[in-house]
Amino acid sequence: MLRRKFIAGNWKMNTNRAEAVALASAIAAKVGGSSPVDVAVCPPSLYLEAVGQAIKNSAVGLGAQNCYHEAKGAFTGEISPQMVRDIGCTYVILGHSERRQIFKESNHDINRKVLAALGAGLTPIVCVGETLDQRQTGKTAAIVREQMEGSLAGFSAEQMLKIVIAYEPVWAIGTGVVATPQQAEEVHADLRRLLESRYNSEVASALRIQYGGSVNAENAASLLSQPNIDGALVGGASLKADGFLAIVAAARPNGPEA
Ligand code: PEP
Repeated sequence: MLRRKFIAGNWKMNTNRAEAVALASAIAAKVGGSSPVDVAVCPPSLYLEAVGQAIKNSAVGLGAQNCYHEAKGAFTGEISPQMVRDIGCTYVILGHSERRQIFKESNHDINRKVLAALGAGLTPIVCVGETLDQRQTGKTAAIVREQMEGSLAGFSAEQMLKIVIAYEPVWAIGTGVVATPQQAEEVHADLRRLLESRYNSEVASALRIQYGGSVNAENAASLLSQPNIDGALVGGASLKADGFLAIVAAARPNGPEA
């Protein structure tokens, strides 16, 4: 099965409003109205509306970086999946390692958020990944499988087909240390085996698994050429239009010049 590559930029808590609009406009201008690669930007939630305006005539999608699992109510400071959808998002990143580590989100928390996001019609990008210590002690497969099974517990095959997974080794995020294509491919292939055993071959072959962790214009092509790597979730390198667009170009089915 030919899976469409998907490149998403996670801007984290960066940019001001004017910078966000300028960055989104530059990306939208280059991507244009149709693209052989799915592309999305995930700005800070306060700028979702402005960025949505800047990309509205392009094929660039809009994503939030987080949401809560309730639709509305007394949850000061939170935003609901319905609000995220209402402001124009298609995607929401859930379970990013910064949310797991800094904000102590558990697999159970993430599971509830993914369910709520699906209910609101969003495509969740669900992040999993091991720490350096876990990798060095040979626990990568066990940890990543546990995060997948915990974060995605109880979902049907049909629901799984609406989800994107991002494998993001924590030791590679924001460090400049990228997983080798072989290291990443090994985990992606293992996750696909897990999907096959828990669901079926349709889910295993259709579900997209992005790699994230210090992806840049130089290393993108070798990662994206791996058979089980279906795109990238890009942090630092998504904050400059040229660098992000070079990663998008590297994901084109016929190569960057096509
Ligand atoms: C991320 O935060 O999702 C990420 C992959 O960051 P970076 O590309 O900066 O490592």
